[in-house]
Order: sequence, then structure tokens, then C-alpha cells
Amino acid sequence: MAMPSQVKMGARVLRELGEYARALPASDARHRPSPPESGLVVDVGSGQAPHPRADLIVDKYVADDFERGSALVIDKPLVVGDGHALPFADHAFSYIITSHVLEHATDPVVFASEMQRVAEAGFIQVPGRRAELTFGWPFHPWLIDREGSALVFCPRGEAKAPDGDYFHRAFTDSAVFALWFAAHRDDWHHSVHWERSFDVRVEGASAAPQTADLDVELTLRTLNEMSVVGPTGALRATLRCPADHGVLADEPSALHCESCGRSYPVANGVPVLLAEAATTA
Ligand SMILES: [Zn+2]
Repeated sequence: MAMPSQVKMGARVLRELGEYARALPASDARHRPSPPESGLVVDVGSGQAPHPRADLIVDKYVADDFERGSALVIDKPLVVGDGHALPFADHAFSYIITSHVLEHATDPVVFASEMQRVAEAGFIQVPGRRAELTFGWPFHPWLIDREGSALVFCPRGEAKAPDGDYFHRAFTDSAVFALWFAAHRDDWHHSVHWERSFDVRVEGASAAPQTADLDVELTLRTLNEMSVVGPTGALRATLRCPADHGVLADEPSALHCESCGRSYPVANGVPVLLAEAATTA
């Protein structure tokens, strides 16, 4: 027979589980994208979990999972591009999703201005300072705070999460811990639902100790071995040169910018619109 203290503890656990479950719908609404029913939606850095509503996904590192929790999932038309120079026309999209991406940025101000250039509205989620110092992802160069509507990025410097592995394991091993985390997401993640504009500030310069490698040849080889499709129709019409937003003309296995003369490879139908991949005639 259970001891009275265990009964009390059991009752308390049940009561708390009920509280977390009741808190979840409102927490989810604050911390999940809310894309419109119509209009083009792009998910940038969708990694292992593209949003179901996304029409197009953008990733830079298709051949390297170093900065990703698990393997890349590609279940939508794909463009290989960089958030700091998005290869799209101004206001090409109704909505842009960047979930757990901006904290990887070398220059969050440039990345943020590109998001506002190519889309009318969007959703941003980043881990907050507490998450970085508790769980820790050493490849994130930033500690991020929210001040009013602004996201403020400070260089991580030497700040580490010495027990990060322990907390990552607890999150994976314990459904109760994961539920508690989800119900208290406000304490861990900053989520911004923005329209027209949002505010990003950087205090200091980034110094990421280690980032994913970009190998253009390996990227092209990887794309050719993957089951992927590129953008067609209305999605193809959104594409622009990442360097100067010039119109891109189709060439055999390349896209050619009519204004700056750069050509970008297309592998297995997927445009690789990266500065690193550009060639000039
Ligand atoms: Zn160009």
C-alpha cells in the first residue's frame, strides 16, 4: 500500500499534468506559425520539419546536418539559398516561416531585413537566453533576449551550458519533462508573429566558434542523389538573383541573371541560388 506522502505526491503530479495540458492550446497558439489560408508560404531553414502549409522550402546546407537536430526532410519544392541573401522578388510571399533559424545567422539584422523584403508577414521562433544557457547549442553564435517587440542578439562569447547534454537527454527521455517544457514555452522560446515589419537588434559582433560547411560540389552531388523537386509555375516566378534581385533566365542546368551575368547551377531541378555557387561567363 502506498504511503500517504506518495499518495499526496501522486495527486500533485496528476493535478500538475492537468494544468500543463490545459495550458498547452494557448501556449501552442503563441508558439506556432499561423500562415494564411491563401497566398504563397515559404519555410526558410525548415530542416527536419517543414511546415505543412509551406509551398516552398529553402535550405542552405543540404549535405551537412551539423547544425540540425536530425536529418533533413524535403517534402516540398526546394530552393537552396541563404537567409542573408534570399533569392526571391520583393514581397513574393504572403508569409515566411523561420523557426529556429535566426539564431544560426551570422548577421541577424541582414537576415531579418531579407525576410521583411520578400514577405508581407511571418513567424519567427528562436531559443531564448535561458534555453541557450540550460540546453546549449554551441553552434549558435547568440544569446537572444526579447525586449518589447524586439529580438536582441548578444554574442554568446564564452557562455556555455555545461550540463546541456543532461537536459537534452531529460527532454528526450521524459514525456513529463517535455510536457512541462511545452506548457512553459514562454520561458524558453521567443516567438514573434509579425506583419509588415519587426525589430531585430544586435549588440556586438558574431563569432560563431564552428558552423556547418558549405561544399558546392557536394551540395550538387547530394541533390542529384535525393528525391527532390524544384519550384515551378508561380513558385518559379518568385526566383531572383540573390546578388542583385535580377530576373533569372533558364539555361540548360543553370539559371542566368540577366542584370549581373551570374549563373547559378540547377541540380535535379533544384536551383542552387548561393553566392558560393555562382559563376560568371
Ligand atoms: Zn544578378
